Amino acid sequence: MKVLVINSGSSSIKFQLLDMADESVLASGLVERIGEPEGLIKCELRPDTDGEEVIKIQEKVPDHEHGMRKAVELLSDKDKGVITDRADIGAVGHRVVHGGEEFHQPTLITDEVLAAILKTVPLAPLHNPANLDGIMVARELFPEAPQVAVFDTAFHQSIPPHAYHYALPYEMYEKHRVRRYGFHGTSHMFVARECARLMGKKPEELNIITVHLGNGCSMTAVKNGKSIDTTLGLTPLEGLVMGTRSGDVDPAIYAFLARNCDMDIDAIDNMLNKESGLKGLCGLNDMRDIHEAIEKGDEKAKLALDVQTYRNRKYIGAYMAALGRVDAIVFTAGIGENDDIVREKSVEGLEAFGIVIDKEVNAQRVKKPLLLSSKDSAVQIWGIPTNEELAIARQAVEIV
Ligand code: AMP
Repeated sequence: MKVLVINSGSSSIKFQLLDMADESVLASGLVERIGEPEGLIKCELRPDTDGEEVIKIQEKVPDHEHGMRKAVELLSDKDKGVITDRADIGAVGHRVVHGGEEFHQPTLITDEVLAAILKTVPLAPLHNPANLDGIMVARELFPEAPQVAVFDTAFHQSIPPHAYHYALPYEMYEKHRVRRYGFHGTSHMFVARECARLMGKKPEELNIITVHLGNGCSMTAVKNGKSIDTTLGLTPLEGLVMGTRSGDVDPAIYAFLARNCDMDIDAIDNMLNKESGLKGLCGLNDMRDIHEAIEKGDEKAKLALDVQTYRNRKYIGAYMAALGRVDAIVFTAGIGENDDIVREKSVEGLEAFGIVIDKEVNAQRVKKPLLLSSKDSAVQIWGIPTNEELAIARQAVEIV
């Protein structure tokens, strides 16, 4: 079965066409800078074969609907395209960022499901409308294919009440569903299962801390295959230090800045989400640029690296306490897979807890799963590339 996967972010769309007979990738693409003066559309056709073809187009992409249509146009191109007949597509899998409390697993999209996703928009105003646009266009262009929603929050629906409640007046939860939801669930679930497979165990036999460090960052405590706590909260802002997002701050910062710095809620929200994190501390939000700046003696860049890796270490400690016994720690996503310095500093000083990294092995980039811990480490440390698209496609096939 051929499955098209649509993974929309607030200003981008990743798309992939997979042949699920052997899980090969027939096409993989990205629409970037949606809504900006100049957008960029990249598409690799047949990346798993020698006949690979790369198409790059620079043009304005006003909105997600336009981006989706453009992506399908490229995939169906008369000469180079990989979709010859749209009826060949057996399913379309959509990443939906927020599923609220309603969705615990991947779900076949019906009109009722669409209405329920619409209700979650206030919880993810940047992401869920983009996901809904993708679904509407895909329904129109692939009317015969079942559409499946795979929720970023679903894996975390197993988190128990003592971990998902904030200590706020209870009616905030009852009336407004204010609680921890968690995100990056597809990625945490994928790498936790991969880790179990690599260790030759069932997911239910292991306790794992999964560390997703990309532009967005989060950590999850996975006990016997299930998420029992995670760092992102009601929205994707809490917890670890991210590219432009602050992670944990004192919530009284809103009152402080409003009273003392003449900032309103929108300005503070914008600052915490778009001007903070690594970028806030040193002006750079890409870890590659931060290392370059550190080499040149930039003290703020060094501080940004130290703040991020200290926070990682602190949460690893917290999740060791939450899990009781830890069998493995897994690093994944852009920074987690590529940055040996961040990995090393994130577990530095934890040797007394049985966490010992092999510095030589760790010096590599993780292109395929790699055991990074030394032989005498009680806790295994892994680098495992995440593959959200494959995880979404597998779940879409299961549902269909
Ligand atoms: P993601 O959101 O998973 O695509 O990760 C994107 C982030 O990964 C970028 O903003 C960079 O900070 C980081 N990244 C990507 N490649 C590298 C690399 N080779 N070394 C260090 N960091 C990297």
